[in-house]
Amino acid sequence: MSFNVDEKSANAALARRDLAHVWHPCTQMKDHEANLPMIPIRRGEGVWLEDFEGKRYLDSISSWWVNLFGHANPRLNAALIEQVGQLEHVIFAGFTHEPAIELAEALTAVAPPGLNRCFLADNGSAAVEVAVKMAYHYWRNSGRPAKRRFLTLANSYHGETLGALAVGNVALYKEVYAPLLMDVLIAPSPDAWQREAGEDAAACARRLFEPMRAMLERHADELAAVIVEPLVQCAGNMRMYHPVYLTLLRTACTEYGVLLIADEIAVGFGRTGTLFACEQANISPDLLCLSKGLTGGYLPLSAVLAPQRIYDAFYDEYQKLNAFLHSHSYTGNPLACAVARETLRMFADTPVIDNNRQLAALMAEATAPLRDHAHVAEVRQTGMILAIELVRDKASRTPYDWRERRGLAVYRHALSRGVLLRPIGEVVYFMPPYVITPDEIALLGQVAAEAIEVATCA
Ligand code: PMP
Repeated sequence: MSFNVDEKSANAALARRDLAHVWHPCTQMKDHEANLPMIPIRRGEGVWLEDFEGKRYLDSISSWWVNLFGHANPRLNAALIEQVGQLEHVIFAGFTHEPAIELAEALTAVAPPGLNRCFLADNGSAAVEVAVKMAYHYWRNSGRPAKRRFLTLANSYHGETLGALAVGNVALYKEVYAPLLMDVLIAPSPDAWQREAGEDAAACARRLFEPMRAMLERHADELAAVIVEPLVQCAGNMRMYHPVYLTLLRTACTEYGVLLIADEIAVGFGRTGTLFACEQANISPDLLCLSKGLTGGYLPLSAVLAPQRIYDAFYDEYQKLNAFLHSHSYTGNPLACAVARETLRMFADTPVIDNNRQLAALMAEATAPLRDHAHVAEVRQTGMILAIELVRDKASRTPYDWRERRGLAVYRHALSRGVLLRPIGEVVYFMPPYVITPDEIALLGQVAAEAIEVATCA
């Protein structure tokens, strides 16, 4: 890559202008004033991002888990360009368009059985808001207005808007806003990290299902829905659990008359090794939230899939005022729908899930030596998500003091080596685009090992 002095100063100049006016998400802006430069990105291609100095970064986290088939993917670019020449946007009430119709057809065809209705929104948190409102409203329309509470898992994450934040449980994001949030019930997470001696992940999930069952039984009359992230609690430190928990939960939700909301916003579209994580438990939720991968990483879009039974509870004479009146200006944006439709076609045309099996095996291989590292408590993996949890003491699994910001040290070192790793706390993880090559996976493993060494040596 050629080095250009003018471009280098352009890089710094953009960072300076950024800090003068932009307020970034999930960021303490003060971090960027001294020794953590903001990185302006000029272009992307495949798994690579390139700054204004020509320095490249391997996007190992798919830009917050949205990108599936690489940056500037030629097929997705073409779909977007084709659509923008036809229709950029149209009101989605009273009007419709082919990209949305075909997307709804394609999504309901590949979704777990029974989910034949598709409600569109424009980001993951909005999908969770829709699912929460829809669940409550479903019971209200069915003559059960007392069913208005929600049950969630400890350590879950469902988004940042107030409803989504309320049904989540990561203290870092939630605690400050607690006075603004509705009260929810919280069951223990089935997280396999909590395995007891001699217990496997399935036995752990079965054990931790018992308190969930008890809460469902006790609160059935007031519960609208349970909401879970199937198989991986991504924002909750990439903690993973066995699919048997979902199978048990599905059966119990049916038994106690509580809706099951599956938030596959992060884990959907092949991340866990199957198109949807629910497939591994052989279940269909009552409401399925999708976003991130759905978009191919291009434009904000989300969907909530529902069965006919729920749709029918809203279907009536207008005067009954039973309709679901939720709306966003950009609902069903044609550009986003056209790219999502093409993303689904790529799953249909190419053996993505099969190819990913090989990539996942290479990810395991590239990180295998880290299992013995003195400060690695666990290397865990579900499909294309691999996480390495750092601890101060391996035997007792004593965590590092979060104020030491070991994860930030990993981030910094990896950047210096041309890899974007963005640990969650002290959990280093890979969730790469599916176009990553074996050599790039090997590089990821090598840089992660180096960065972990640097971050844990003192
Ligand atoms: N649910 C889950 C499981 C997520 O991981 C996220 C985003 N990290 C969201 C909801 C919220 O999505 P968005 O950031 O698009 O609002």
